[in-house]
Amino acid sequence: SLEEQNKDTTTTEKKEKIARPEDDLNIEKFKYVIIGGGTAAYYAVDKILEHDKQATILMISKEYEVPYQRPPLSKNLWANKDENVKETLEYSDWSGAKSKLLYEPESVYGNEVLQFIRNKRVVDIHLDGKVILLNDGTLVAYEKCLIATGGEPRKFNYSASDDPRITTYRTVDDFRKLHDVVHDDKVKHVTVIGGGFLGSEITCAINDNLKDKVKITQVFPENGVLPLIFPDYLSKYATDKVKASGVDVLEGRLVKDISKNNDKLKVQLDNGSSIDTDHVVVAVGIIPNTDIAKSTSLEVDPVNGGYVVNAELQARSNVYVAGDVASFYDYNLGVRRRVEHHDHAKATGELAGKNMAGSADPYTYLPFFWSDLTDHIGFEAVGNTDAKLKTYAVWEKQKTDDADKFSKGIIYYLNDKSKVVGVLTFRNYGKMDKARELITKGKPITNLEDLQHAISLEDE
Ligand code: FAD
Ligand code: NAD
Repeated sequence: SLEEQNKDTTTTEKKEKIARPEDDLNIEKFKYVIIGGGTAAYYAVDKILEHDKQATILMISKEYEVPYQRPPLSKNLWANKDENVKETLEYSDWSGAKSKLLYEPESVYGNEVLQFIRNKRVVDIHLDGKVILLNDGTLVAYEKCLIATGGEPRKFNYSASDDPRITTYRTVDDFRKLHDVVHDDKVKHVTVIGGGFLGSEITCAINDNLKDKVKITQVFPENGVLPLIFPDYLSKYATDKVKASGVDVLEGRLVKDISKNNDKLKVQLDNGSSIDTDHVVVAVGIIPNTDIAKSTSLEVDPVNGGYVVNAELQARSNVYVAGDVASFYDYNLGVRRRVEHHDHAKATGELAGKNMAGSADPYTYLPFFWSDLTDHIGFEAVGNTDAKLKTYAVWEKQKTDDADKFSKGIIYYLNDKSKVVGVLTFRNYGKMDKARELITKGKPITNLEDLQHAISLEDE
Protein backbone atom coordinates (compact mmCIF):
# COMPACT_ATOMS: atom_id res chain seq x y z
CA SER A 1 0.00 0.00 0.00
CA LEU A 2 1.05 3.63 -0.34
CA GLU A 3 1.19 3.85 3.45
CA GLU A 4 3.83 1.07 3.58
CA GLN A 5 5.72 2.48 0.60
CA ASN A 6 5.97 5.86 2.31
CA LYS A 7 7.34 4.22 5.44
CA ASP A 8 10.15 2.76 3.33
CA THR A 9 11.72 6.15 2.95
CA THR A 10 13.80 7.48 5.84
CA THR A 11 13.39 11.04 7.10
CA THR A 12 16.82 12.15 5.87
CA GLU A 13 16.08 10.83 2.43
CA LYS A 14 12.76 12.63 2.45
CA LYS A 15 14.40 15.97 3.32
CA GLU A 16 16.68 15.68 0.30
CA LYS A 17 13.69 15.05 -1.87
CA ILE A 18 11.69 18.13 -0.94
CA ALA A 19 10.45 19.76 -4.13
CA ARG A 20 12.33 23.06 -4.52
CA PRO A 21 11.32 26.18 -6.42
CA GLU A 22 13.03 26.27 -9.79
CA ASP A 23 15.65 29.04 -9.69
CA ASP A 24 14.79 30.63 -12.98
CA LEU A 25 11.01 30.19 -13.12
CA ASN A 26 10.36 30.30 -9.39
CA ILE A 27 7.92 27.40 -9.68
CA GLU A 28 7.80 24.16 -7.77
CA LYS A 29 9.15 21.11 -9.54
CA PHE A 30 8.21 17.48 -8.95
CA LYS A 31 9.77 14.43 -10.49
CA TYR A 32 6.28 13.09 -11.20
CA VAL A 33 3.06 15.05 -11.68
CA ILE A 34 -0.15 13.03 -11.85
CA ILE A 35 -3.16 14.80 -13.35
CA GLY A 36 -6.31 13.25 -11.90
CA GLY A 37 -7.07 11.59 -8.58
CA GLY A 38 -8.95 8.47 -9.67
CA THR A 39 -8.14 4.79 -10.04
CA ALA A 40 -5.48 5.05 -12.77
CA ALA A 41 -3.77 7.86 -10.84
CA TYR A 42 -3.78 5.87 -7.59
CA TYR A 43 -2.22 2.74 -9.08
CA ALA A 44 0.39 4.77 -11.00
CA VAL A 45 1.57 6.34 -7.74
CA ASP A 46 1.68 2.91 -6.10
CA LYS A 47 4.05 1.63 -8.80
CA ILE A 48 6.20 4.79 -8.91
CA LEU A 49 6.80 4.47 -5.16
CA GLU A 50 7.67 0.81 -5.60
CA HIS A 51 10.19 1.43 -8.39
CA ASP A 52 11.68 4.84 -7.62
CA LYS A 53 12.89 5.46 -4.08
CA GLN A 54 13.87 9.03 -5.06
CA ALA A 55 10.36 9.97 -6.19
CA THR A 56 8.67 13.28 -5.47
CA ILE A 57 5.07 13.11 -6.61
CA LEU A 58 2.31 15.68 -6.94
CA MET A 59 -1.23 14.47 -7.61
CA ILE A 60 -3.83 17.05 -8.67
CA SER A 61 -7.56 16.35 -8.61
CA LYS A 62 -10.53 18.54 -9.30
CA GLU A 63 -12.41 16.53 -6.69
CA TYR A 64 -12.09 17.02 -2.93
CA GLU A 65 -11.52 13.35 -2.06
CA VAL A 66 -8.21 11.55 -2.20
CA PRO A 67 -8.37 8.57 -4.64
CA TYR A 68 -11.26 6.17 -4.29
CA GLN A 69 -12.89 3.40 -6.32
CA ARG A 70 -16.11 4.12 -8.20
CA PRO A 71 -17.80 0.67 -8.56
CA PRO A 72 -19.43 0.66 -5.07
CA LEU A 73 -21.02 4.07 -5.81
CA SER A 74 -23.67 2.38 -7.95
CA LYS A 75 -23.85 -0.90 -6.00
CA ASN A 76 -22.82 -1.91 -2.45
CA LEU A 77 -22.78 1.57 -0.86
CA TRP A 78 -26.57 1.74 -1.27
CA ALA A 79 -26.97 -1.41 0.83
CA ASN A 80 -25.31 0.26 3.82
CA LYS A 81 -28.26 1.39 5.96
CA ASP A 82 -26.07 3.28 8.45
CA GLU A 83 -27.11 6.93 8.34
CA ASN A 84 -23.41 7.91 8.53
CA VAL A 85 -22.58 6.11 5.29
CA LYS A 86 -21.96 9.44 3.54
CA GLU A 87 -19.06 10.05 5.94
CA THR A 88 -17.76 6.52 6.60
CA LEU A 89 -18.09 5.48 2.93
CA GLU A 90 -18.05 1.87 4.12
CA TYR A 91 -19.66 -1.06 2.37
CA SER A 92 -19.68 -4.86 2.41
CA ASP A 93 -18.05 -6.55 -0.55
CA TRP A 94 -19.35 -9.69 -2.31
CA SER A 95 -17.87 -11.91 0.41
CA GLY A 96 -19.49 -9.86 3.18
CA ALA A 97 -16.18 -8.32 4.25
CA LYS A 98 -16.25 -4.65 5.31
CA SER A 99 -14.43 -2.35 2.90
CA LYS A 100 -13.81 1.36 2.46
CA LEU A 101 -14.33 3.40 -0.67
CA LEU A 102 -11.07 5.39 -0.29
CA TYR A 103 -8.00 3.42 -1.36
CA GLU A 104 -5.94 4.93 1.46
CA PRO A 105 -6.59 7.25 4.39
CA GLU A 106 -6.11 11.01 3.88
CA SER A 107 -2.96 10.94 6.02
CA VAL A 108 -0.99 9.13 3.29
CA TYR A 109 -1.02 12.18 1.02
CA GLY A 110 0.55 15.09 2.89
CA ASN A 111 4.32 14.57 2.95
CA GLU A 112 7.49 15.44 1.06
CA VAL A 113 7.28 12.36 -1.15
CA LEU A 114 3.60 12.50 -2.06
CA GLN A 115 1.51 15.67 -2.18
CA PHE A 116 -2.15 16.03 -3.13
CA ILE A 117 -3.82 19.18 -4.45
CA ARG A 118 -7.61 18.94 -4.18
CA ASN A 119 -10.41 20.93 -5.83
CA LYS A 120 -8.11 22.30 -8.55
CA ARG A 121 -8.17 21.73 -12.28
CA VAL A 122 -5.24 21.40 -14.64
CA VAL A 123 -6.15 23.72 -17.51
CA ASP A 124 -3.02 23.45 -19.67
CA ILE A 125 0.20 21.52 -20.17
CA HIS A 126 3.19 23.07 -21.88
CA LEU A 127 4.81 19.92 -23.19
CA ASP A 128 8.07 21.49 -24.36
CA GLY A 129 8.56 23.48 -21.18
CA LYS A 130 7.35 20.53 -19.03
CA VAL A 131 5.07 22.81 -17.05
CA ILE A 132 1.41 22.50 -16.15
CA LEU A 133 -1.03 25.28 -15.33
CA LEU A 134 -3.80 25.04 -12.73
CA ASN A 135 -7.07 26.97 -12.85
CA ASP A 136 -5.88 29.27 -10.04
CA GLY A 137 -2.84 30.33 -12.07
CA THR A 138 -0.32 28.08 -10.27
CA LEU A 139 2.45 26.65 -12.47
CA VAL A 140 4.12 23.33 -11.62
CA ALA A 141 7.14 21.83 -13.39
CA TYR A 142 7.54 18.07 -13.93
CA GLU A 143 10.02 15.56 -15.25
CA LYS A 144 7.37 12.94 -16.03
CA CYS A 145 3.66 13.59 -16.23
CA LEU A 146 0.65 11.24 -16.21
CA ILE A 147 -2.71 12.24 -17.64
CA ALA A 148 -5.40 10.19 -15.87
CA THR A 149 -8.37 12.51 -16.20
CA GLY A 150 -11.09 9.92 -16.91
CA GLY A 151 -14.31 11.24 -18.40
CA GLU A 152 -17.16 13.64 -17.77
CA PRO A 153 -20.82 12.55 -17.78
CA ARG A 154 -22.52 13.53 -21.03
CA LYS A 155 -25.28 16.12 -20.65
CA PHE A 156 -28.25 17.05 -22.79
CA ASN A 157 -29.94 20.40 -23.15
CA TYR A 158 -33.39 20.39 -21.60
CA SER A 159 -35.67 23.36 -20.87
CA ALA A 160 -35.01 22.75 -17.17
CA SER A 161 -31.27 21.92 -17.47
CA ASP A 162 -30.35 24.48 -14.80
CA ASP A 163 -32.69 22.82 -12.26
CA PRO A 164 -30.66 21.20 -9.45
CA ARG A 165 -33.09 18.26 -9.51
CA ILE A 166 -31.53 17.09 -12.81
CA THR A 167 -28.17 15.51 -11.95
CA THR A 168 -25.47 13.29 -13.41
CA TYR A 169 -23.63 10.63 -11.38
CA ARG A 170 -19.91 9.88 -11.21
CA THR A 171 -18.34 11.05 -7.97
CA VAL A 172 -18.62 10.42 -4.25
CA ASP A 173 -20.14 13.87 -4.02
CA ASP A 174 -22.85 12.77 -6.44
CA PHE A 175 -23.49 9.77 -4.16
CA ARG A 176 -23.92 12.04 -1.13
CA LYS A 177 -26.31 14.32 -3.00
CA LEU A 178 -28.42 11.48 -4.44
CA HIS A 179 -28.48 9.81 -1.03
CA ASP A 180 -29.98 13.01 0.41
CA VAL A 181 -32.49 13.19 -2.43
CA VAL A 182 -33.86 9.68 -2.05
CA HIS A 183 -34.04 10.02 1.75
CA ASP A 184 -35.96 13.31 1.49
CA ASP A 185 -39.57 12.68 2.62
CA LYS A 186 -40.90 14.83 -0.20
CA VAL A 187 -39.20 12.70 -2.88
CA LYS A 188 -41.44 9.84 -3.99
CA HIS A 189 -40.38 9.31 -7.59
CA VAL A 190 -37.03 9.30 -9.39
CA THR A 191 -36.47 8.97 -13.14
CA VAL A 192 -33.22 7.50 -14.47
CA ILE A 193 -32.34 8.22 -18.11
CA GLY A 194 -30.05 5.61 -19.70
CA GLY A 195 -29.98 1.83 -20.04
CA GLY A 196 -26.20 1.34 -19.90
CA PHE A 197 -24.05 0.25 -16.96
CA LEU A 198 -24.62 3.27 -14.80
CA GLY A 199 -28.32 3.85 -15.50
CA SER A 200 -29.12 0.18 -14.89
CA GLU A 201 -26.94 -0.26 -11.80
CA ILE A 202 -28.09 2.89 -10.02
CA THR A 203 -31.73 2.06 -10.82
CA CYS A 204 -31.40 -1.44 -9.38
CA ALA A 205 -29.34 -0.41 -6.35
CA ILE A 206 -31.81 2.26 -5.25
CA ASN A 207 -34.83 0.09 -6.06
CA ASP A 208 -33.35 -2.87 -4.21
CA ASN A 209 -32.63 -0.93 -1.04
CA LEU A 210 -35.24 1.82 -0.96
CA LYS A 211 -38.23 0.26 -2.73
CA ASP A 212 -40.67 1.35 -0.02
CA LYS A 213 -39.40 4.89 -0.12
CA VAL A 214 -39.12 5.79 -3.82
CA LYS A 215 -40.54 4.51 -7.09
CA ILE A 216 -38.11 4.47 -10.01
CA THR A 217 -38.76 4.83 -13.71
CA GLN A 218 -35.87 3.96 -16.05
CA VAL A 219 -36.08 5.33 -19.62
CA PHE A 220 -33.79 4.60 -22.57
CA PRO A 221 -34.01 4.38 -26.37
CA GLU A 222 -32.80 0.79 -26.83
CA ASN A 223 -34.92 -2.39 -26.57
CA GLY A 224 -33.48 -3.52 -23.26
CA VAL A 225 -30.91 -2.90 -20.52
CA LEU A 226 -27.15 -3.20 -21.16
CA PRO A 227 -27.84 -3.08 -24.91
CA LEU A 228 -24.23 -2.45 -25.84
CA ILE A 229 -23.03 -5.84 -24.54
CA PHE A 230 -25.98 -8.21 -24.07
CA PRO A 231 -27.36 -10.05 -27.12
CA ASP A 232 -31.00 -9.00 -27.70
CA TYR A 233 -32.56 -12.04 -26.00
CA LEU A 234 -30.50 -11.55 -22.83
CA SER A 235 -31.13 -7.81 -22.77
CA LYS A 236 -34.89 -8.53 -22.99
CA TYR A 237 -34.65 -11.19 -20.25
CA ALA A 238 -32.67 -8.83 -17.99
CA THR A 239 -35.18 -6.03 -18.62
CA ASP A 240 -38.03 -8.33 -17.58
CA LYS A 241 -36.15 -9.14 -14.37
CA VAL A 242 -35.62 -5.44 -13.62
CA LYS A 243 -39.35 -4.85 -14.20
CA ALA A 244 -40.22 -7.80 -11.96
CA SER A 245 -38.14 -6.25 -9.19
CA GLY A 246 -40.51 -3.25 -9.18
CA VAL A 247 -38.89 -0.76 -11.54
CA ASP A 248 -41.03 0.92 -14.18
CA VAL A 249 -38.83 0.34 -17.25
CA LEU A 250 -39.68 2.31 -20.37
CA GLU A 251 -37.51 0.77 -23.07
CA GLY A 252 -37.48 2.09 -26.65
CA ARG A 253 -38.35 5.61 -25.46
CA LEU A 254 -36.41 8.84 -26.04
CA VAL A 255 -36.66 11.78 -23.67
CA LYS A 256 -37.59 14.84 -25.76
CA ASP A 257 -37.41 17.42 -22.99
CA ILE A 258 -37.58 17.98 -19.25
CA SER A 259 -39.44 21.03 -18.01
CA LYS A 260 -40.55 22.43 -14.66
CA ASN A 261 -44.13 21.66 -13.68
CA ASN A 262 -45.02 23.33 -10.35
CA ASP A 263 -43.10 21.41 -7.70
CA LYS A 264 -42.32 18.51 -10.09
CA LEU A 265 -40.23 17.95 -13.19
CA LYS A 266 -42.06 16.86 -16.33
CA VAL A 267 -40.15 14.31 -18.42
CA GLN A 268 -41.59 14.40 -21.94
CA LEU A 269 -41.20 11.30 -24.08
CA ASP A 270 -41.10 10.86 -27.85
CA ASN A 271 -44.51 9.13 -27.94
CA GLY A 272 -46.25 12.21 -26.53
CA SER A 273 -46.60 10.83 -23.00
CA SER A 274 -44.88 12.36 -19.97
CA ILE A 275 -43.81 11.48 -16.43
CA ASP A 276 -44.11 13.78 -13.44
CA THR A 277 -41.10 13.15 -11.26
CA ASP A 278 -39.21 14.58 -8.27
CA HIS A 279 -35.69 14.02 -9.53
CA VAL A 280 -33.91 12.97 -12.73
CA VAL A 281 -30.55 11.15 -12.95
CA VAL A 282 -29.02 11.40 -16.42
CA ALA A 283 -26.72 8.42 -17.19
CA VAL A 284 -26.04 8.55 -20.90
CA GLY A 285 -22.33 7.85 -21.20
CA ILE A 286 -19.16 9.86 -20.68
CA ILE A 287 -16.95 12.12 -22.75
CA PRO A 288 -13.22 11.53 -22.17
CA ASN A 289 -11.49 14.55 -20.59
CA THR A 290 -9.09 15.65 -23.35
CA ASP A 291 -9.25 19.39 -22.89
CA ILE A 292 -6.08 19.88 -20.85
CA ALA A 293 -3.30 20.26 -23.43
CA LYS A 294 -3.83 23.62 -25.12
CA SER A 295 -0.36 25.18 -25.54
CA THR A 296 0.96 22.14 -27.36
CA SER A 297 -1.48 19.71 -28.82
CA LEU A 298 -1.67 16.01 -28.09
CA GLU A 299 -3.25 13.66 -30.60
CA VAL A 300 -6.88 12.81 -29.82
CA ASP A 301 -8.30 9.62 -31.36
CA PRO A 302 -10.93 10.82 -33.88
CA VAL A 303 -12.87 7.53 -33.67
CA ASN A 304 -12.72 6.39 -30.04
CA GLY A 305 -11.90 9.69 -28.34
CA GLY A 306 -9.11 9.89 -25.75
CA TYR A 307 -5.41 10.67 -26.08
CA VAL A 308 -3.56 8.35 -28.47
CA VAL A 309 -0.75 6.44 -26.74
CA ASN A 310 1.92 4.00 -27.90
CA ALA A 311 2.38 0.49 -26.51
CA GLU A 312 4.17 1.88 -23.45
CA LEU A 313 1.23 4.24 -22.77
CA GLN A 314 3.18 7.33 -23.81
CA ALA A 315 1.53 10.20 -25.69
CA ARG A 316 4.85 12.07 -25.99
CA SER A 317 8.25 11.69 -24.33
CA ASN A 318 7.72 11.98 -20.58
CA VAL A 319 3.92 12.22 -20.94
CA TYR A 320 1.88 9.10 -20.18
CA VAL A 321 -1.86 8.45 -20.30
CA ALA A 322 -3.88 5.81 -18.41
CA GLY A 323 -7.46 4.76 -17.68
CA ASP A 324 -10.68 5.86 -19.39
CA VAL A 325 -8.94 8.69 -21.27
CA ALA A 326 -6.33 6.52 -23.06
CA SER A 327 -6.76 5.34 -26.64
CA PHE A 328 -4.39 2.37 -26.94
CA TYR A 329 -3.64 -0.34 -29.46
CA ASP A 330 -4.96 -3.64 -28.13
CA TYR A 331 -2.50 -6.31 -29.21
CA ASN A 332 -4.79 -9.18 -28.31
CA LEU A 333 -7.71 -7.89 -30.35
CA GLY A 334 -5.72 -6.15 -33.10
CA VAL A 335 -7.61 -2.87 -32.79
CA ARG A 336 -7.16 0.55 -31.26
CA ARG A 337 -9.74 1.13 -28.54
CA ARG A 338 -10.64 2.90 -25.33
CA VAL A 339 -11.92 1.00 -22.28
CA GLU A 340 -14.07 2.57 -19.56
CA HIS A 341 -13.72 0.01 -16.78
CA HIS A 342 -12.03 -0.34 -13.39
CA ASP A 343 -9.59 -3.21 -14.06
CA HIS A 344 -8.23 -1.45 -17.14
CA ALA A 345 -7.74 1.80 -15.18
CA LYS A 346 -5.85 -0.19 -12.53
CA ALA A 347 -3.68 -2.10 -15.02
CA THR A 348 -2.83 0.90 -17.23
CA GLY A 349 -2.20 3.04 -14.14
CA GLU A 350 0.22 0.43 -12.80
CA LEU A 351 2.03 0.06 -16.11
CA ALA A 352 2.26 3.81 -16.72
CA GLY A 353 3.68 4.25 -13.19
CA LYS A 354 6.27 1.52 -13.74
CA ASN A 355 7.25 2.92 -17.14
CA MET A 356 7.47 6.46 -15.77
CA ALA A 357 9.88 5.11 -13.16
CA GLY A 358 12.22 3.71 -15.82
CA SER A 359 10.74 0.59 -17.47
CA ALA A 360 9.57 0.39 -21.07
CA ASP A 361 7.04 -2.45 -21.00
CA PRO A 362 4.17 -2.75 -23.48
CA TYR A 363 0.52 -3.00 -22.41
CA THR A 364 -0.51 -6.52 -23.35
CA TYR A 365 -3.03 -7.22 -20.57
CA LEU A 366 -6.67 -8.03 -21.37
CA PRO A 367 -8.71 -6.28 -18.67
CA PHE A 368 -12.02 -7.66 -17.42
CA PHE A 369 -15.15 -5.89 -16.19
CA TRP A 370 -18.26 -6.88 -14.31
CA SER A 371 -21.72 -5.70 -13.35
CA ASP A 372 -24.47 -6.68 -10.92
CA LEU A 373 -28.07 -5.55 -11.29
CA THR A 374 -30.55 -7.85 -9.54
CA ASP A 375 -30.07 -11.30 -7.99
CA HIS A 376 -30.70 -12.67 -11.48
CA ILE A 377 -28.30 -10.46 -13.41
CA GLY A 378 -24.59 -10.46 -12.72
CA PHE A 379 -21.58 -11.26 -14.87
CA GLU A 380 -17.88 -10.92 -15.60
CA ALA A 381 -16.57 -10.25 -19.09
CA VAL A 382 -13.32 -9.78 -20.99
CA GLY A 383 -12.30 -8.65 -24.48
CA ASN A 384 -14.63 -7.25 -27.11
CA THR A 385 -18.21 -7.95 -25.99
CA ASP A 386 -19.92 -5.68 -28.48
CA ALA A 387 -23.55 -6.77 -28.79
CA LYS A 388 -23.31 -6.26 -32.56
CA LEU A 389 -20.92 -9.24 -32.89
CA LYS A 390 -22.04 -12.79 -33.62
CA THR A 391 -22.41 -14.75 -30.37
CA TYR A 392 -22.53 -18.39 -29.37
CA ALA A 393 -23.80 -19.18 -25.89
CA VAL A 394 -23.81 -22.20 -23.61
CA TRP A 395 -26.54 -22.15 -20.92
CA GLU A 396 -27.08 -24.46 -17.99
CA LYS A 397 -30.18 -26.56 -18.60
CA GLN A 398 -33.12 -25.61 -16.38
CA LYS A 399 -35.37 -28.43 -15.16
CA THR A 400 -38.15 -26.37 -13.72
CA ASP A 401 -38.73 -22.68 -14.10
CA ASP A 402 -38.70 -21.22 -17.61
CA ALA A 403 -38.74 -17.72 -16.13
CA ASP A 404 -35.24 -18.41 -14.85
CA LYS A 405 -33.94 -19.91 -18.08
CA PHE A 406 -30.75 -17.85 -18.27
CA SER A 407 -29.60 -18.76 -14.80
CA LYS A 408 -25.99 -19.54 -15.65
CA GLY A 409 -24.09 -19.41 -18.91
CA ILE A 410 -21.16 -18.38 -21.06
CA ILE A 411 -21.43 -16.17 -24.13
CA TYR A 412 -18.66 -16.20 -26.74
CA TYR A 413 -18.35 -13.17 -29.06
CA LEU A 414 -16.86 -13.94 -32.49
CA ASN A 415 -15.41 -11.58 -35.10
CA ASP A 416 -15.80 -11.88 -38.88
CA LYS A 417 -12.83 -14.27 -38.98
CA SER A 418 -14.64 -16.59 -36.54
CA LYS A 419 -12.16 -15.88 -33.77
CA VAL A 420 -13.37 -15.53 -30.19
CA VAL A 421 -12.70 -11.89 -29.28
CA GLY A 422 -14.81 -11.63 -26.14
CA VAL A 423 -16.33 -13.82 -23.40
CA LEU A 424 -19.09 -12.99 -20.91
CA THR A 425 -19.73 -15.41 -18.05
CA PHE A 426 -23.28 -14.89 -16.77
CA ARG A 427 -23.82 -15.63 -13.05
CA ASN A 428 -20.65 -17.65 -13.36
CA TYR A 429 -17.48 -16.33 -11.77
CA GLY A 430 -13.71 -16.89 -11.75
CA LYS A 431 -13.44 -17.88 -15.42
CA MET A 432 -11.62 -14.82 -16.75
CA ASP A 433 -8.17 -16.44 -17.07
CA LYS A 434 -9.61 -19.27 -19.15
CA ALA A 435 -11.45 -16.70 -21.27
CA ARG A 436 -8.24 -14.70 -21.80
CA GLU A 437 -6.44 -17.87 -22.91
CA LEU A 438 -9.12 -18.56 -25.51
CA ILE A 439 -9.03 -15.00 -26.85
CA THR A 440 -5.24 -14.69 -27.02
CA LYS A 441 -4.94 -18.07 -28.75
CA GLY A 442 -6.82 -16.40 -31.62
CA LYS A 443 -7.69 -19.70 -33.31
CA PRO A 444 -10.60 -19.48 -35.79
CA ILE A 445 -13.57 -21.61 -34.65
CA THR A 446 -14.61 -23.69 -37.64
CA ASN A 447 -17.21 -25.71 -35.73
CA LEU A 448 -19.18 -23.70 -33.17
CA GLU A 449 -19.90 -26.91 -31.24
CA ASP A 450 -16.22 -26.83 -30.22
CA LEU A 451 -17.12 -23.97 -27.90
CA GLN A 452 -19.60 -26.18 -26.01
CA HIS A 453 -16.89 -27.21 -23.53
CA ALA A 454 -14.25 -24.54 -24.16
CA ILE A 455 -14.83 -23.17 -20.66
CA SER A 456 -16.56 -25.25 -18.02
CA LEU A 457 -19.93 -24.12 -16.66
CA GLU A 458 -19.14 -25.78 -13.36
CA ASP A 459 -18.01 -23.72 -10.36
CA GLU A 460 -14.31 -24.13 -9.78
P1 FAD B 1 -11.58 8.45 -12.98
O1 FAD B 1 -11.75 7.43 -11.93
O2 FAD B 1 -12.81 9.12 -13.50
O3 FAD B 1 -10.61 9.57 -12.42
C1 FAD B 1 -10.35 10.77 -13.14
C2 FAD B 1 -9.86 11.80 -12.16
O4 FAD B 1 -9.38 12.93 -12.84
C3 FAD B 1 -10.92 12.31 -11.20
O5 FAD B 1 -10.36 12.40 -9.92
C4 FAD B 1 -11.24 13.70 -11.75
O6 FAD B 1 -11.73 14.54 -10.77
C5 FAD B 1 -9.87 14.11 -12.24
N1 FAD B 1 -9.79 15.15 -13.27
C6 FAD B 1 -10.41 15.18 -14.48
N2 FAD B 1 -10.03 16.29 -15.17
C7 FAD B 1 -9.16 16.94 -14.38
C8 FAD B 1 -8.40 18.15 -14.53
N3 FAD B 1 -8.45 18.88 -15.64
N4 FAD B 1 -7.61 18.54 -13.50
C9 FAD B 1 -7.52 17.81 -12.36
N5 FAD B 1 -8.20 16.65 -12.18
C10 FAD B 1 -9.00 16.23 -13.18
N6 FAD B 1 -16.00 -0.27 -13.90
C11 FAD B 1 -15.99 -1.63 -13.73
O7 FAD B 1 -15.18 -2.31 -14.34
N7 FAD B 1 -16.87 -2.23 -12.89
C12 FAD B 1 -17.79 -1.53 -12.19
O8 FAD B 1 -18.57 -2.12 -11.45
C13 FAD B 1 -17.83 -0.11 -12.33
N8 FAD B 1 -18.72 0.63 -11.64
C14 FAD B 1 -18.74 1.99 -11.80
C15 FAD B 1 -19.67 2.73 -11.08
C16 FAD B 1 -19.74 4.11 -11.25
C17 FAD B 1 -20.75 4.90 -10.47
C18 FAD B 1 -18.88 4.76 -12.17
C19 FAD B 1 -18.96 6.25 -12.37
C20 FAD B 1 -17.94 4.03 -12.89
C21 FAD B 1 -17.86 2.63 -12.70
N9 FAD B 1 -16.94 1.86 -13.40
C22 FAD B 1 -16.89 0.50 -13.22
C23 FAD B 1 -15.98 2.49 -14.32
C24 FAD B 1 -14.66 2.78 -13.61
O9 FAD B 1 -14.90 3.32 -12.34
C25 FAD B 1 -13.83 3.74 -14.46
O10 FAD B 1 -13.48 3.06 -15.64
C26 FAD B 1 -12.59 4.20 -13.72
O11 FAD B 1 -12.95 4.99 -12.63
C27 FAD B 1 -11.67 4.98 -14.64
O12 FAD B 1 -10.57 5.41 -13.90
P2 FAD B 1 -9.76 6.70 -14.33
O13 FAD B 1 -8.69 6.88 -13.31
O14 FAD B 1 -9.39 6.60 -15.75
O15 FAD B 1 -10.81 7.89 -14.24
P1 NAD C 1 -22.69 3.55 -21.04
O1 NAD C 1 -21.79 3.91 -22.15
O2 NAD C 1 -22.54 2.26 -20.35
O3 NAD C 1 -24.21 3.60 -21.52
C1 NAD C 1 -24.67 4.57 -22.36
C2 NAD C 1 -26.18 4.51 -22.40
O4 NAD C 1 -26.66 5.82 -22.50
C3 NAD C 1 -26.79 3.80 -23.58
O5 NAD C 1 -26.89 2.43 -23.46
C4 NAD C 1 -28.16 4.43 -23.64
O6 NAD C 1 -29.12 3.69 -22.92
C5 NAD C 1 -27.97 5.75 -22.97
N1 NAD C 1 -28.20 6.83 -23.95
C6 NAD C 1 -27.39 7.26 -24.92
N2 NAD C 1 -28.00 8.26 -25.60
C7 NAD C 1 -29.22 8.42 -25.01
C8 NAD C 1 -30.32 9.28 -25.24
N3 NAD C 1 -30.31 10.20 -26.21
N4 NAD C 1 -31.38 9.18 -24.41
C9 NAD C 1 -31.41 8.27 -23.43
N5 NAD C 1 -30.41 7.43 -23.19
C10 NAD C 1 -29.34 7.52 -23.96
O7 NAD C 1 -22.56 4.79 -20.03
P2 NAD C 1 -23.20 4.97 -18.58
O8 NAD C 1 -24.14 3.88 -18.29
O9 NAD C 1 -23.68 6.37 -18.50
O10 NAD C 1 -21.95 4.81 -17.62
C11 NAD C 1 -21.04 5.91 -17.43
C12 NAD C 1 -19.61 5.41 -17.36
O11 NAD C 1 -19.42 4.67 -16.16
C13 NAD C 1 -19.20 4.49 -18.49
O12 NAD C 1 -17.86 4.74 -18.77
C14 NAD C 1 -19.35 3.11 -17.91
O13 NAD C 1 -18.48 2.18 -18.51
C15 NAD C 1 -18.96 3.37 -16.46
N6 NAD C 1 -19.63 2.41 -15.57
C16 NAD C 1 -19.23 1.12 -15.64
C17 NAD C 1 -19.83 0.19 -14.83
C18 NAD C 1 -19.39 -1.25 -14.90
O14 NAD C 1 -18.40 -1.54 -15.57
N7 NAD C 1 -20.07 -2.16 -14.20
C19 NAD C 1 -20.83 0.58 -13.95
C20 NAD C 1 -21.23 1.92 -13.92
C21 NAD C 1 -20.61 2.82 -14.73
